[in-house]
Amino acid sequence: MIPFLDLKVINQQHRQALIDAATRVIDSGWYVLGQEVKAFEQEFASYCSTQHCVGMANGLDALVLTLRAWKELGKLKEGDEVIVPANTYIASVLAITENRLKPVLVEPDEHSYNLCPQKVRQAITPKTKAIVAVHLYGQLAPMKAIMDLADEHDLLVLEDSAQAHGAMVDGQRAGSWGHASGFSFYPGKNMGALGDAGAMTTNDAELALTVRALGNYGSHKKYENLYQGLNSRLDEMQAALLRVKLQYLDADTLVRQKIAVAYAQGITNPLVTLPIAPSSTVTSLQNHVFHLFVVRVKARAAFQARLKASGIDTLIHYPIPPHQQQAYRDYQNLSLPLTEIIHQEVVSLPIGPTMGMGEVAEVIAACNRFSA
Ligand SMILES: *Cc1c(COP(=O)(O)O)cnc(C)c1O
Repeated sequence: MIPFLDLKVINQQHRQALIDAATRVIDSGWYVLGQEVKAFEQEFASYCSTQHCVGMANGLDALVLTLRAWKELGKLKEGDEVIVPANTYIASVLAITENRLKPVLVEPDEHSYNLCPQKVRQAITPKTKAIVAVHLYGQLAPMKAIMDLADEHDLLVLEDSAQAHGAMVDGQRAGSWGHASGFSFYPGKNMGALGDAGAMTTNDAELALTVRALGNYGSHKKYENLYQGLNSRLDEMQAALLRVKLQYLDADTLVRQKIAVAYAQGITNPLVTLPIAPSSTVTSLQNHVFHLFVVRVKARAAFQARLKASGIDTLIHYPIPPHQQQAYRDYQNLSLPLTEIIHQEVVSLPIGPTMGMGEVAEVIAACNRFSA
């Protein structure tokens, strides 16, 4: 059986280092907002080349509290429009609506599944105040063009980097392009904790301070509350474990990129639409860290069943777009045909840092055997 992603094997590779880190925390007697969080924040900010990193309880909170901080700082207000790709994972949209901002769902680029600068431009109105640029599936959105548009229209840009740890263009990583960025360290993400965890990164010191306060009951100083905040802190245990995981992130990414190249060269079945050109190389793929390797197949159910019969697990990211979710029934009348087709056809092949090239060859062979 080829699993979609084997978290147990992934974490067992670093079993002793993780145990040592956990032991350090247990023996420290200090479990919330201590040295491990501080050290992780510095290490991750340095990895992303940003001045600040604020640990959070999870990725959704990192996005929610960054937008909330902009409201507290007077840069956003209730009802402002925020552009977001229509095909994103629902968390990107939840962060907007949680703040009573108005999500403007924009169709993605058909090939990259990320925001398309022309479509973003068309969606800008006098009420538009921000863009949530999602690096979906691990590929950096076209940040240069997005930042140019943002400059031109005086918009804030929040990157949703939950799937794109380490992805870069021109040596500049996800998390350092926008005015701020949210990361998730959910166990299945490219850099996963052993539980929920997240962070935001930014070069804006005032924003970082405000987000930190919002995640700590709205308090900069013990027992003095400037905001009606939440409790959303990264804990010492997850921070210590993440410091171990960060050391292996680049090596893990390289394995993912090599698998992606092998898939792109090996899968030649015209019924399976690839996300990257067969001529792609690891060096040409620095902008993509392949959190997911997503292909499109019209007869998706049959394809998944055939792979399953060959012992290969696949998943769908995502089966229902945000505007068709019950939670957003108010948006049901929106017509987003490209997003809807994408959700009907996408299917994710197994990919991960412990997958062997023999397994990759089996997946390729099964994809090539498929006929409708
Ligand atoms: C996982 C994810 C989130 C949310 O992160 P959590 O840590 O699970 O809260 C947000 N956006 C995207 C694109 C994600 O994939």
